[in-house]
Amino acid sequence: MHSFTEENYIKNIFKLSENGTQEVNTNAIAEALDTKAASVTDMLRKLSAKELVNYVKYRGVSLTDEGKRVALQVIRKHRLWEVFLVEKLKFSWDEVHDVAEELEHVGSSLLTKRLDEFLGHPQFDPHGDPIPTENGELHLKKQRLLAELEVNDGGVVVGVNDSQPLFLQYLDKMGISLGSRIMVLDRFGYDNSLEISLEDDKRLVVSSEVSKNIFLSA
Ligand SMILES: [Zn+2]
Repeated sequence: MHSFTEENYIKNIFKLSENGTQEVNTNAIAEALDTKAASVTDMLRKLSAKELVNYVKYRGVSLTDEGKRVALQVIRKHRLWEVFLVEKLKFSWDEVHDVAEELEHVGSSLLTKRLDEFLGHPQFDPHGDPIPTENGELHLKKQRLLAELEVNDGGVVVGVNDSQPLFLQYLDKMGISLGSRIMVLDRFGYDNSLEISLEDDKRLVVSSEVSKNIFLSA
C-alpha cells in the first residue's frame, strides 16, 4: 500500500513524463504539486527506496515498471469514478475532477473491478480521456488540437486538455461538448484566435488559449 501523497507523486510524475517515457526534473514536480523542491527531494528518496522511481540527485527522475503500474491504477480509478459520478450520480463534467482526486486513493482492487463491471467497462472518462485497462494498458486515441487546424478543416470534439471547472464551464456556455462538430472558418493572425462554426451554423470566436485545450478527432 502507498500513501495518498505517494500516489499523487507517482501519478504526477507519470503525467509529466509523457506517460512514463521520459525523465522529469524535480522543479517540474515541485511546480505541479505546488510544493518546495526540498520536499520533493525527500519524497523522491522515499519512492526510490520503495523502488517506484529511479532517482539520482541533481538529475532527473523516472518511474520504474512498478511505479508505472501504480500510476496507471490510480489513473484508472480516477477516471472510472468520474464516469460513475456523471452517469450515476448526475454530476456535471466540471464537478467531478476534485471528487475523483479523493476517490482515486480508495485501495480495494475488488471495488475497482466491480465499479468497472457496473459501468459496463467504459473506455473513456467524461473529459474524453482513455481509461487504463485492468492490466494497465492505456489506449491513446488519434487526436489533434483545435489550435493546429487549418482554415476549412474540422472535426468532432473528442477530449479536453484541461479538466479545470472554469474551462469546462466556459465550454458549456459556448455550447461545446464531447461530440460537438467544429469547423475552422478563419484564423486571426493578431492573437491566433479562431472563428469556428458549430452545428446549426452557430459561429463564435475562441482565443488561442481555448483552442489549445480542445482535442478533435484526427
Ligand atoms: Zn479528473
